[in-house]
Amino acid sequence: MAAYDFNAPRLFIDAPLQAGARIALDRGQANYLLNVLRLKAGETVLIFNGRDGEWRAEVMVEGRKAADLVCAERIREQEAAPDIIYAFAPLKHARLDYMVQKAVEMGAGVLQPVLTRRTQASRINLERMRSNAVEAAEQCGILSIPEVREEENLERFLNGLEKDRLVVFCDENAPVSNPVEALAKLGNNQAGLVVIVGPEGGFTDQERALVAAHERCVCVSLGPRILRADTAAVAALAIVQAVLGDWN
Ligand code: SAM
Repeated sequence: MAAYDFNAPRLFIDAPLQAGARIALDRGQANYLLNVLRLKAGETVLIFNGRDGEWRAEVMVEGRKAADLVCAERIREQEAAPDIIYAFAPLKHARLDYMVQKAVEMGAGVLQPVLTRRTQASRINLERMRSNAVEAAEQCGILSIPEVREEENLERFLNGLEKDRLVVFCDENAPVSNPVEALAKLGNNQAGLVVIVGPEGGFTDQERALVAAHERCVCVSLGPRILRADTAAVAALAIVQAVLGDWN
């Protein structure tokens, strides 16, 4: 990664960013900068909005509780979000929080909750997922906020995929074999990707058949041990990024 100022705090700001633009922070953001980070007037924050790249902005303090930021210079051009859909059976609270943050750090461009027969979580808090995605994006240095989609039934989700989109199916029942070799055989994947991981109770055979029926589906083993779904998220995305994604 180009020399990057990892020390400067980063904030996602949902407002147009251009030279000289002055942005009023909301109370939470002002409190974070002034009272948590104890930034002073004139100090620097990196800001991004997912459209206009990343900007260096200066803090303008307006009393103890309010602050504005003034855009000084663009330091990174906007990049396209990665075309990786991370499809997963929603988990219960803390595990779901963790999985959302890790999927963002690992480069998922879309987070797609899919409902399978053994999905445990009933109600999915999309707003909570979105705020976890923003926090992870601010922390890991990406320029877009991954899209968190409404939950979908597995079959409808699969039917809605482009035929040439590659589905990397993490199947705990797959015979143990090297996932890196399985993906490397595919060569340079031009179309977008889906990485799909099942629920804590696993996929049913009927669901396996549904996923495997997708035009371009590669079924991978993540080794001889059964991983928790949130562990599988990190393992699967690491292998995909290393062989087909932006790690190579
Ligand atoms: N049915 C499993 C069992 O026997 O306990 C539990 C499923 S596992 C907790 C959750 C998901 O993680 C699986 O559906 C699969 O997508 C993925 N996963 C876990 N271990 C895996 C492995 N060794 N190989 C491939 N996928 C795995």
